[in-house]
Amino acid sequence: MKIAEKYYFFLNPYKEYAFTKCPKCDGKTKVKKFPLVIFIEKTKFVLNLNKTCKYCPYCELIIAKKEEFKPMAEAYDVKVDDFFIYGTLPIEVYKQYENKQINPKDFHKMAIPFKDVWKFEVQPAGWYPATKSDKK
Ligand SMILES: [Zn+2]
Repeated sequence: MKIAEKYYFFLNPYKEYAFTKCPKCDGKTKVKKFPLVIFIEKTKFVLNLNKTCKYCPYCELIIAKKEEFKPMAEAYDVKVDDFFIYGTLPIEVYKQYENKQINPKDFHKMAIPFKDVWKFEVQPAGWYPATKSDKK
């Protein structure tokens, strides 16, 4: 059975920007916890982390600060760039696996993949999707 995709995701690389406004629709973001599923290719670990993120309900966009994943990456002796943040866990599955590792063979059977991962870059006049600013 294929699990329906849910949410868009943006890993915020800027320490100094908290994204209290959504970079896509400019609406106010909320603070919400999401059980994130993180796959580390290098070590074949699958981690789950109930992470406080910024969330735009209108765009279904979850924004997480890259900086905040660093302690976790260090604990597993990898870099945040080695993280593949795959999606979220249904809450009942999260409760079952809280603080436990998920078998890498099984995680895609229970995790909800993101619809897409977006990137935004800062420009003097505001925020634009990274793809737009690539135009020359
Ligand atoms: Zn939005």
